[in-house]
Amino acid sequence: MRLLLFGPPGVGKGTQAKLLSEEHGVPHISTGDMLRAAVTANTELGRKAKAIMETGHLVPDDVMIGIVRQVLSSPVAAQGFILDGFPRTLAQAKALSAIFDELKISDYKVVNFDVDDDEIIRRLANRVMCRNDGKIFNMETDGVTIDSPCPECGGTLFQRDDDREETVRNRLAIYQNTTAPVINYYKACGVVVNVDGMGPIDVVNREINALVTG
Ligand code: AMP
Repeated sequence: MRLLLFGPPGVGKGTQAKLLSEEHGVPHISTGDMLRAAVTANTELGRKAKAIMETGHLVPDDVMIGIVRQVLSSPVAAQGFILDGFPRTLAQAKALSAIFDELKISDYKVVNFDVDDDEIIRRLANRVMCRNDGKIFNMETDGVTIDSPCPECGGTLFQRDDDREETVRNRLAIYQNTTAPVINYYKACGVVVNVDGMGPIDVVNREINALVTG
């Protein structure tokens, strides 16, 4: 299974990627998670990325392409992957095609999530993450507060800095202007499947599985 999950922030890509990764035994490769890990570890990449991420802007293409080339070329991704948050620009999409050519990968699909902006702002304002296992919860629908322990592992929950409303609006604008048009590149390649991201998690999960397997 080789999937690219494509759609605006907060649409449920991370949640679905984790489920698909567990179900199909392939790694969940999230460029956002990799950058957040670098910020926490205070590496050179993390120090550069932190200020950019806090404003909702995009980390430069050459940096992101280098990270993704490295992980896709490693044994970890040899049997498949769920790529989440990459590509976000046309340059990244073209570079990814070149990486796929180098690795002789031709069997991939792009899962395109659709959801409206108001719903996204609501979801992100209510989204919390576990510091320990990275699981994502919604304070409105999962019965947790920012002070609750993680329902899965007991870890500490937190809200991402870039999930503040002003930053969310900025991220959505960047998505509409820069990232959304990239879907046309993949439509031309004939690899896109569309899912309605508004449904409950298990319904969306079943829909994706039906579209990408069998
Ligand atoms: P995410 O967790 O996917 O929402 O990513 C969080 C932030 O990391 C984004 O708002 C960007 O600042 C940065 N980021 C993640 N992936 C990329 C990418 N492919 N290109 C540029 N910046 C990225």
